[in-house]
Amino acid sequence: MSVNFNKLDAALKKMGGALRKFPIKKIKSTDPIEIKIKKGVSISRGEFDKIKPVAGFLNVEGHHAFLYIDQPFASQEDLEEIPSENGPRFHIVKECKTLQKMHKDKRSDRYILIQNINGEFPCNPRDPLTRIIDTKTKIPAKLLACHNCMMQLDYLGFSSKKNYSQRQQIRNLDLNKFLKHYNPFFIDSRYYRKFKDEDRGNYSVDHAKIRDRLLKQTDYTCQGSELGTGKCDVQLKDHPEWLHMHHINGRSGDNSPRNIKILCISCHQRQPLHEKMNVPARAINEIARRRRKITNEN
Ligand SMILES: [Zn+2]
Ligand SMILES: [Zn+2]
Ligand SMILES: [Zn+2]
Repeated sequence: MSVNFNKLDAALKKMGGALRKFPIKKIKSTDPIEIKIKKGVSISRGEFDKIKPVAGFLNVEGHHAFLYIDQPFASQEDLEEIPSENGPRFHIVKECKTLQKMHKDKRSDRYILIQNINGEFPCNPRDPLTRIIDTKTKIPAKLLACHNCMMQLDYLGFSSKKNYSQRQQIRNLDLNKFLKHYNPFFIDSRYYRKFKDEDRGNYSVDHAKIRDRLLKQTDYTCQGSELGTGKCDVQLKDHPEWLHMHHINGRSGDNSPRNIKILCISCHQRQPLHEKMNVPARAINEIARRRRKITNEN
């Protein structure tokens, strides 16, 4: 990916701001889809149709991704602003009202699919007067998340925030925090979808929202019980990515209250037919350490 930082750097210098360095991560994967979407790839209308969301999130064969327009009606100045208040928005969920309307209007082929953990969305600016696209200049724009996507997810209680600046603040996503929060949905090749071609798209679109509500209700505490040792009760507010929403009857679309519970990744792995779940050793060790602490305190 060739990204031109010169103009951004110049703009930052003019503003007297610190020079931001964007580390370019080495791509380790050999998965052709992953390599493609990390760079950003334009999609056709048919390809938009083929995007199968996982728990509502845009997802391509086990890889989460965002959609955005890389040649928006935005000037260089608009795109260089951090965050870009007047630039385009990026989308996170497939049922987003904006995305759906664009698709209906046959304009979904304007989108770029990207998996960018560094939060850069390469965009071409337009001349504000002539509206001509400057195809030679790519600006790594820091875009805001789409309002409708945030409403649907209700990330950090977005829908109940009435204040404009509070909302803008949430939409200016810290992608690392955001991805960590929803991590169980993004590691679906290991958890939600064990095999690439396995169709597990029957998670409801409000899956993430329901999990969030349950996390709050339980104060990020595991509701599992270990054989013989009573309740698990481990608290993981600082590691929400290790808390999954388990469906007791095995039907992932059944979110009735009696069918769902919050389980830590360690308890979740112990559920019937969950043996193959890939659990990081770090999580197991930390959860075990916290359980010992609870036992010692009682
Ligand atoms: Zn959206
Ligand atoms: Zn489960
Ligand atoms: Zn547990």
